[in-house]
Amino acid sequence: MTSWPELESQYFFATTKRLPVTLVRGEGTRVYDEKGREYLDFVAGIAAVSLGHCHPEVVRAVQEQAGTLMHVSNFYYSIPQVRLAQLLCENTCLDKVFFCNSGAEAVEGCIKLARKWGKEKRNGAYEIIVAENAFHGRTLATVAAAGAEKYRAPFTPLPEGFVRVPFNDIDAIREATSRRTAAVLLEPVQGEGGVNFPADGYLQAVRAWCDQAGILLMFDEVQSGMGRCGRLFAYQLFGVEPDVMAVAKGLGGGFPIGAFLAKDHCAVFAVGEHGTTFGGNPLACHVGFTVLKYMLDHDIPGQAAQRGRHLERRLRSLADRHPLVTEVRGAGLLWALELARESAEEGVALAIQEGLLINNVKPSALRLMPPLTVTEEEVDQAVEVLDRVLSRLEAGAVK
Ligand SMILES: *Cc1c(COP(=O)(O)O)cnc(C)c1O
Repeated sequence: MTSWPELESQYFFATTKRLPVTLVRGEGTRVYDEKGREYLDFVAGIAAVSLGHCHPEVVRAVQEQAGTLMHVSNFYYSIPQVRLAQLLCENTCLDKVFFCNSGAEAVEGCIKLARKWGKEKRNGAYEIIVAENAFHGRTLATVAAAGAEKYRAPFTPLPEGFVRVPFNDIDAIREATSRRTAAVLLEPVQGEGGVNFPADGYLQAVRAWCDQAGILLMFDEVQSGMGRCGRLFAYQLFGVEPDVMAVAKGLGGGFPIGAFLAKDHCAVFAVGEHGTTFGGNPLACHVGFTVLKYMLDHDIPGQAAQRGRHLERRLRSLADRHPLVTEVRGAGLLWALELARESAEEGVALAIQEGLLINNVKPSALRLMPPLTVTEEEVDQAVEVLDRVLSRLEAGAVK
């Protein structure tokens, strides 16, 4: 019989470098391959499986809604959509929402909203200031907004109007602002860029500058939001409210859904100016509602913060014992270990051998992002594996 990897390489675009594991089942923080081997999942579908694999309430929500009404056009009112919109707006600083299917679409919507707002409210301003090392998705416009050259170079010419500045440099934002500027777009915590936190006072200074200059502040909380950083949204960690915000990943608990939200003063789309076929369909929205409601009712962000403090202590003690680890950074349940050399890919491979899934977010950094429901015992188990992986990497370097 031909293997799944062979069939994949025959039929699939070679866009993704796969790891040698075929996953068939999941439960909580654990996933299983086709041979029944168990792995601790500290990738969680890239921070998407927020409540763990096959959480009973999420499974029930999918089953109930799939058997009731899966999809109707946005020509009609839909109850799950309105309920999720209300719950999101009541629990954020934003007033209006638009649902889509992914993070990239959510950020793309923010970009279009900023363009429309600039046209209407700021004499045709259209530029968006973005950050180096940012990641906003893979559509043409979100790729144009990305920090890394590797995401952009193969696809030029790209949509215009993005001005890139270093992250954590408020003066660079001030200097980049002109009559053409409509908005600043930032991840409050950069995820794909390597789990990079804003310097003390940076986001507050950006907020003050946006107010002074009369431009919008847009946060991409696709990765940092939905409890990941120990608050429902990372903006709450820093006490800085955005005018516009993109959400996705953790909102669906593994089911695809995205959303962007705006304050009333910049919710400028008129009838027919934006739309989607699948976005906001009853199935996705009922699942999103179930996930968000569960998070609020069970204080999952608070639990993530608590487990995160435990994980942090364990990671810092690893760093004390392993010279290969040069920095531990993160919050909630989004963490990175910076390594003294570019051995993250090797570390991921060794961890798989030991039954742990982690991610090489950079050549020199390992990222951990377990489900927010991870237990303390699972954290301890993962750290024990990491301990062995780091020892093996260090031994390898000696040879
Ligand atoms: C993952 C991610 C995206 C893109 O989301 P997709 O669902 O893959 O399109 C956008 N922004 C940030 C910050 C992300 O982490």
